[in-house]
Formats: sequence, C-alpha cells, structure tokens
Amino acid sequence: MADSKLISKIPDGPLKDKWSKRKSSIRVVSPNNKRKLEVIVVGTGLGGASAAASLGEMGYNVKIFCISDSPRRAHSIAAQGGINAAKNYQNDNDSVSRLFFDTVKGGDYRSREANVYRLAEVSAAIIDQCVAQGVPFAREYGGYLANRSFGGVQVSRTFYARGQTGQQLLLGAYASLNKEIAAGTVKSYPRHEMLDLVIINGEAKGIIARNLVTGKLERFGAHAVVLATGGYGNTYFLSTNAMNSNGSAAMQAYRKGAFFANPCFAQIHPTCIPVHGDQQCKLTLMSESLRNDGRIWVPKKKEDVMKLRKHEIKPSQIPEEDRDYYLERRYPAFGNLVPRDVASRAAKERCDAGFGVNETGLAVFLDFADAIKRLGEEKVAERYGNLFQMYEKITSTSPWKEPMMIYPAIHYTMGGLWVDYDLQTTIPGLYAIGEANFSDHGGNRLGASALMQGLADGYFILPYTIGDYLSHKFAEPKTDINAPEFEAAEKAVKERIDKIFAVKGTETVDSIHKKLGHIMWEYVGMARNEAGLKKAIVEIGKLREEFWKTVRVPGTNEEFNQELEKALRLVDFFDIGELMARDALNRKESCGGHFREEMQTEEGETKRDDENFMYVAAWEYKGEGKEPELHKEDLVYENIKIVTRNYKD
Ligand SMILES: Cc1cc2nc3c(=O)[nH]c(=O)nc-3n(C[C@H](O)[C@H](O)[C@H](O)COP(=O)(O)OP(=O)(O)OC[C@H]3O[C@@H](n4cnc5c(N)ncnc54)[C@H](O)[C@@H]3O)c2cc1C
Repeated sequence: MADSKLISKIPDGPLKDKWSKRKSSIRVVSPNNKRKLEVIVVGTGLGGASAAASLGEMGYNVKIFCISDSPRRAHSIAAQGGINAAKNYQNDNDSVSRLFFDTVKGGDYRSREANVYRLAEVSAAIIDQCVAQGVPFAREYGGYLANRSFGGVQVSRTFYARGQTGQQLLLGAYASLNKEIAAGTVKSYPRHEMLDLVIINGEAKGIIARNLVTGKLERFGAHAVVLATGGYGNTYFLSTNAMNSNGSAAMQAYRKGAFFANPCFAQIHPTCIPVHGDQQCKLTLMSESLRNDGRIWVPKKKEDVMKLRKHEIKPSQIPEEDRDYYLERRYPAFGNLVPRDVASRAAKERCDAGFGVNETGLAVFLDFADAIKRLGEEKVAERYGNLFQMYEKITSTSPWKEPMMIYPAIHYTMGGLWVDYDLQTTIPGLYAIGEANFSDHGGNRLGASALMQGLADGYFILPYTIGDYLSHKFAEPKTDINAPEFEAAEKAVKERIDKIFAVKGTETVDSIHKKLGHIMWEYVGMARNEAGLKKAIVEIGKLREEFWKTVRVPGTNEEFNQELEKALRLVDFFDIGELMARDALNRKESCGGHFREEMQTEEGETKRDDENFMYVAAWEYKGEGKEPELHKEDLVYENIKIVTRNYKD
C-alpha cells in the first residue's frame, strides 16, 4: 500500500509523455510577479549555479550561498571524466531509451523510471546549453563534439573537456551566474555556511547562515529554499570529495522534517590512488575515462606478487601470460568498462585473495602499455595527458613507463533528501537538487551521470517545477526574518556552537573524524553484514559521546575558524553514518553499491531481493536519540524488463 507521506507526483500516461505533460500543467508565474518572489539557493556547484542562474534569468530574486571564497570553487570543479548525453554523435545507435535503460540497469533497478527517462530526455539540451556558453568540449577533426565511453554502457555518449569537464562546465554556469549577479537578480554570499533551515507554518522560509569570516550568524528569508549542497561521502573521512563537502544542510533539513532516502547507497569508485599512510586526509580519483584504454590486471602468480611488493621486479617485467586481466576474464562483454560497483568489488576480491600489488596488498594495476602501442604517445597524451601528469606528481611513478596502481575509494552518494517528481522534499517549499537529492541513480550511479543530473535539475527541471509552488506565493509578503521561528533557529545554532567550545578537550576534530571513517569503511563499506552494521551503530554512538567529552576547538566563534566549521559538520556526519548503517541493516539484499555479504551468488555477485526491497527507503526523523521511522516508496517498472544485471555477455 502506498505510503501517504510519500506522494511522488509522477504524472500518469506513457513514459515518454510524462515530462511534457507535467510541464504543460505547471502553473507559470508572470514576469511582474516573479520580481516579488525570493528564492534561496544553497550551493554553487553545477546544480546550484545552474539553478540560480536560470532562476535569476527568469526574473526571480535569488540569493546564493557557498562555503568557499568564490562560487566557482565548488566541489563540482573536480569532475574530470565527462558528462553523458544521448546525442548519438557517434552514430552507434544511442538514443534516449538506451540512456534510460542503461541508467536504470546500472542503478540495479532501484531508481524511478519516470525520473530517469526525463533525465535522458533533457540530456541533449544540456550539451547545447553548455556549448552556447562556450564550454570547450573536445572535438573531432571535422568539428563535431567528441565522445568517449564510460562504465556500464556499450556506446560512446560521454562529452568531455580533457580531464577538466567539471571545471569547464562550472565556468560556463558561473559565467551565466555572474551575468545575473551583475544584473542584480542574483545576490551571492560566498563564505556563508547554512547552519539551519527555518520553517514557518510547515513551509521552508529561510536559513540561518554563519558568515565564515566574521563568525556572525545571519538570517535570510525567502519564499522557497533550494538545497544544492552536494553529497555526504566525507562521512568516511577519506574520500575523493572536496575537503569541505559535507552532509550538514541535508541533515538540518532532515531534522526539520525532510525525509532522507536510501542513505546506504554510497558509491565506491574503482580507480583511485591507493591509501599510502595514516596521515592522509584526502584520496585522489583517477578518472573513469582511463578505463577506456587502460587495462586492469594483477599477477596470476603469488610469487610475482611477493616480488612486486618487495620491489624486486617491475610490473612491466611480468610476461603477458602471467597477468590476470580479471575484468576482461569475468565480464567479457564489458571488460574494463563494467560499472563502478562491479569493478570495485572485483578489485577487492583479487586483493582479498592475496593478489594486491603494493606493500599494503590493496592495489591493482591500470596499464596503458597496450594503448600506447596501439594509439601512439601523442594520442594517449591528448586524451589523458593531464591525468598522467597528476598521477606522476602524486606517486613519482610515470604511467608512461609502468602501470598506475589503483584501489577503490568512496566517491559519490546516491542517497540524499527524498524528492518528488518536482524535486520538492517532504517539506513544502524546500527543494533538493544535484547530488544532495536521491533522485536518479538507484543503487549505483553510472560514470558521467552526476554532472548530467546536476545540470538537468538546475537548468531544465527545477526552474520550471518550482514555479508551480511559487505561483501560489506571490501575494504573500516577504518573509519576516524577525519572526520567532528565525529567533529560535538562530538561538539553537548559537547554543550548538557554544556547546562545542565548552568541551575544551584534547582531541582534534580530524582525529575523531578519522575514527568515524574507520568504522564506516570497516562496517559500512564495500561489503556489509548484519553483525558489522549493528556494531557500527553502537560504535558511532560511542564515538559521538567521545566527541562531546574530548574534542578541542581552538580560537573563537568571532573569527575565521575552520576547526569550528569541521566540528559542526562532524556532529552531522555522526548522524549520517548512523542512518547509513541503519538503512544498510534494513536492506537485506545486495544491490548496486550496497553489498550485503549474506546475499550473494555463488560467483560473488550481488543478489537482489525484488520481492521485498523494490522500494525507496525514506527515513523520517523522530527526535534526538529516537529511532527514525522508515517509509517505503514502491518502485514500479512498467517500461523496462527487470532482470539480473549481466555484464558478462
Ligand atoms: C574527483 C571527482 C571526479 C568526478 N568526476 C565526475 C565526472 O567526470 N562526471 C560526473 O558526472 N560526475 C563526476 N563526479 C561527481 C560530480 O562531480 C558531483 O556529483 C557533482 O559535481 C555534484 O554537484 P552538486 O552541484 O550537486 O554539488 P557540489 O559540487 O558538491 O557543490 C556543493 C555546493 O554546496 C555548498 N555547500 C555545501 N554545504 C553548504 C552549507 N551548509 N552552506 C552553504 N553552502 C554549502 C558548497 O560550498 C558547494 O558550493 C566526480 C566527483 C569527484 C569527487
């Protein structure tokens, strides 16, 4: 039976008509009235920047916030590999339906059909928009935009700008944003961190933000609030995410009534530079694009493994017949381009079996020798030159001479705030876009699909759907930031900050966060089981208590204080980590990136339980120290045949 609190608002009718149908029924706000309406956008990554620029251009009054000193330094800038779109430029039989199908299958049948189809449908327009902004996508000799392949697909649909796709796309969105800032429709608040959401009469009406330079708490009101605050991968401490990526805004919304969907769906990326010591605070991604031409292998013989670990031989000295190209062996149809969850687990399997090639035993090779022979150095440099350079700078090994070493690492979170088809959360007037919502990727995201989703949400979906809500609001006066609700929210934030300073312990925030990371990686990481997940919940609880007894945050609130910023975020990471473990415990099946050891096939592949778990798990906050309540949104597949994922043939 449908859960009465989860109204997904998916339009009825044929899949391919749903979005057109919804668009035509959305009420439009007239230009005069748009001028009376205010929208807060939190986050300036691809989701937030594109949304704010579009809303500003439409005539709304927008305020945009970010943690960094400039909107263009959002985490999105790190994206390397590319952005998907069903343009079929390669004439390899790509289409909207194929992109839709690949994405639902890639997500292991745990995403909404209607959302994914819409994403595929608007994908082509994103590329046109970005080209018009001047984004320098790679081109073929004849002038067409170039494409490459990413994991989980058999066509080439990934548009890219060398290894800097996110940066170039963000510069495009930022240029549009700047136009609006200059026109006065968007006001930008860099170095302002949202610390609470303000709800008045059940609707989102504003935020409390801390000016990160002065420490002052400031109130901002609006007719609607959009969260584009990114993912929560840094719960694990070590991840490929930017250092200030966090899940706090989502948690603030969760505590005020927004449901949190599928928190346990976290993506582990197979091609990261392995951990090299315990003083590290960041992991580096080597782009998935490298799997187009790089071949992944480990030695077949344990004696070669031992020699490698002792540096007695170089990988290039191991003859071809003694190499195990395990992805090509296990998944002949997709080879090195299987989806990320499959490639990550396969690397773990080889390393657990004792074939890891570095001193820690936690690394496999990504080898370009064949590609260099086949394509020549110039071509390889054209495709991956900056990535090779980056690898060499970090590891002092040249990928031109010896294979790269890689190992899986936390990279992306498919879970996030539950949103309906309009991208509205369970709080009226509160929207979530980009990585901050749960919307499109199910149990596993395919490579190059996050940028697509962030820009689809920001340029083409939210600017329309939010109009439906705002069309009822233009007669309302501006939100009064002196209302008691703002007063109470600001007071609560101040008390939280004071409480942190009052601990005066001896431990740094990072040292406690690192412990949380260990718990998460050990028990809520690549492989999970009931006992481990239960243990994680207990251990996180103990660590939270330890934090409130031992943390030391130096300095004061009234200054630029990054230790305080980190401490505030860590308090939320405890809650996210616990929610992730709880969700993983509930989901007694393996699907996508969520691998429950109890549920696997004889070959070690994921074993879904469609009968009992084909739903979105949406968690409702029930108060501090209380167990959250689980709501289920059933997933209905009418246009796609549900099968076991197969990348073998
Ligand atoms: C190394 C790396 C490479 C990647 N490569 C690709 C790729 O090639 N293709 C692809 O599709 N995807 C890629 N991804 C994933 C993709 O980059 C992200 O999912 C996407 O950019 C997220 O965009 P976003 O707008 O949702 O959030 P983000 O870019 O994370 O932006 C979040 C914004 O919110 C702000 N913010 C957060 N909390 C607050 C707060 N409380 N108050 C105020 N502001 C706040 C931040 O300052 C920032 O401006 C990659 C990810 C990584 C880590």
